[in-house]
Amino acid sequence: MVRNATVKVSSYYAVEGDTLKRVKKTCPKCGPGVFLAEHADRLVCGRCGYVEKKK
Ligand SMILES: [Zn+2]
Repeated sequence: MVRNATVKVSSYYAVEGDTLKRVKKTCPKCGPGVFLAEHADRLVCGRCGYVEKKK
Protein backbone atom coordinates (compact mmCIF):
# COMPACT_ATOMS: atom_id res chain seq x y z
CA MET A 1 0.00 0.00 0.00
CA VAL A 2 1.51 3.22 -1.14
CA ARG A 3 -0.76 5.12 1.19
CA ASN A 4 1.11 4.06 4.32
CA ALA A 5 4.00 6.40 3.67
CA THR A 6 1.68 9.32 3.08
CA VAL A 7 -0.21 8.75 6.31
CA LYS A 8 2.99 8.58 8.27
CA VAL A 9 4.20 11.93 7.00
CA SER A 10 0.90 13.74 7.34
CA SER A 11 0.37 12.54 10.91
CA TYR A 12 3.84 13.73 11.79
CA TYR A 13 3.06 17.24 10.65
CA ALA A 14 -0.38 17.18 12.21
CA VAL A 15 1.14 16.52 15.61
CA GLU A 16 3.68 19.25 15.13
CA GLY A 17 1.07 21.88 14.42
CA ASP A 18 -1.38 20.66 17.02
CA THR A 19 0.49 20.42 20.27
CA LEU A 20 3.89 20.23 21.89
CA LYS A 21 2.96 17.43 24.24
CA ARG A 22 5.41 14.68 23.45
CA VAL A 23 6.85 15.99 20.25
CA LYS A 24 10.13 17.78 19.95
CA LYS A 25 9.81 21.50 20.35
CA THR A 26 10.83 23.78 17.57
CA CYS A 27 13.25 26.63 18.03
CA PRO A 28 11.53 29.99 18.62
CA LYS A 29 14.43 31.77 16.94
CA CYS A 30 14.93 29.57 13.91
CA GLY A 31 11.24 28.89 13.49
CA PRO A 32 9.32 25.79 12.43
CA GLY A 33 11.42 23.00 10.99
CA VAL A 34 14.30 23.43 13.41
CA PHE A 35 13.88 21.18 16.40
CA LEU A 36 15.44 21.49 19.81
CA ALA A 37 17.67 18.64 20.90
CA GLU A 38 16.52 17.07 24.12
CA HIS A 39 18.90 16.82 27.05
CA ALA A 40 18.39 15.75 30.63
CA ASP A 41 17.23 19.11 31.91
CA ARG A 42 17.14 21.34 28.88
CA LEU A 43 16.36 21.67 25.22
CA VAL A 44 19.05 22.98 22.92
CA CYS A 45 18.90 24.25 19.37
CA GLY A 46 21.77 22.80 17.37
CA ARG A 47 21.55 25.61 14.87
CA CYS A 48 21.57 28.87 16.84
CA GLY A 49 22.45 27.61 20.30
CA TYR A 50 19.16 28.59 21.89
CA VAL A 51 18.65 26.86 25.26
CA GLU A 52 15.36 26.28 26.98
CA LYS A 53 15.20 24.79 30.44
CA LYS A 54 12.79 22.00 31.10
CA LYS A 55 10.30 22.33 33.89
ZN1 LIG B 1 17.59 27.93 16.81
